[in-house]
Amino acid sequence: MEKIDWNKLSFGYQKTNYNTRCYYRDNKWGEIEVTGSEIINMHISATCLHYGQEAFEGLKAFRGKDGRIRVFRWDENAKRLNTSADGIRMANVPQKLFKEMVWKTISLNSEFVPPYGTGAALYIRPLLLGTGAEIGVKPASEYLFMIFVTPVGPYFKEGLKPVNMMISRDYDRAAPLGTGNIKVGGNYAGSLNAIQNAHDQNFTNVVFLDAKEKKYIDECGPANFFAIKDNTYITPKSKSILPSITNKSLITLAEDMGLKVERRKVPVEELGTFEEAGACGTAAVISPIGTIYDPAAKKTYSYYENEPGPVSMELYSRLTSIQLGDTEDKYGWVEFVD
Ligand SMILES: *Cc1c(COP(=O)(O)O)cnc(C)c1O
Repeated sequence: MEKIDWNKLSFGYQKTNYNTRCYYRDNKWGEIEVTGSEIINMHISATCLHYGQEAFEGLKAFRGKDGRIRVFRWDENAKRLNTSADGIRMANVPQKLFKEMVWKTISLNSEFVPPYGTGAALYIRPLLLGTGAEIGVKPASEYLFMIFVTPVGPYFKEGLKPVNMMISRDYDRAAPLGTGNIKVGGNYAGSLNAIQNAHDQNFTNVVFLDAKEKKYIDECGPANFFAIKDNTYITPKSKSILPSITNKSLITLAEDMGLKVERRKVPVEELGTFEEAGACGTAAVISPIGTIYDPAAKKTYSYYENEPGPVSMELYSRLTSIQLGDTEDKYGWVEFVD
């Protein structure tokens, strides 16, 4: 292995030694296979290629001060993968198999788990694909569950930097009763035009509104939205939002900090009343939001524009110190690999 400059690592894909795979055939899961190949060999008529039978997960492993490797809330990812699988009629992955493959994939690539203090982590990407050949629209009878890992640098190299967002008025991410609440590739394909449109106008990402009434805040790019005001943590409630494990964890920590928590509809006009706003997800934990532009009203809502707000910063440091093992893991969110 070439020596990795951990401090220069970007948030991108880098080859590691091995990935793990398991096939579902004849109504049962087979043996776990280990391979060094980055290629999947599959039937040209596989349902994942034509009809979007594909779901994924994203979680991270961290090396603590003690050198040991910790995985954050893997069981939540295992559960969510099956919710996604059910949402597009794919075979479920037993929690035990999920864990065994996560552990195996990390152990086989342990030299790629970044050292403590670099801000970097090992990103774990489980993937569930319909591999059975069909040409009519129906669920496949064969599936591939696989996991690969890649070391990733901190999302914000110079510390948390507020981003500028734009409300998406021309594109929706997911239909009101569609697949917005599950982690499937199709939602991402459907969001690419909105994101490109925002990039073209120099915004980092988009804030999607509810597709039905266009009145309420929905997802925030590929992350959940949260805001702070009057000592309250507020996050949208909607059937088309993906239930973020980071958001769920921040809610627990916010309550710990003595904040009230409100999970409810968040009308666009309320953006003008927030003290802090942010996006949350595994990749960045928190991306503080500096400004949100609404093209319909030609109006910009602004928050902390140059540095993260104090509550966002406190939430961020509480969560990351649990992940790294720097503070007590009182909720049992972290499990050791070695
Ligand atoms: C994965 C994802 C998130 C973040 O979820 P985490 O579990 O916190 O990583 C938020 N929104 C969408 C659309 C996602 O796909």
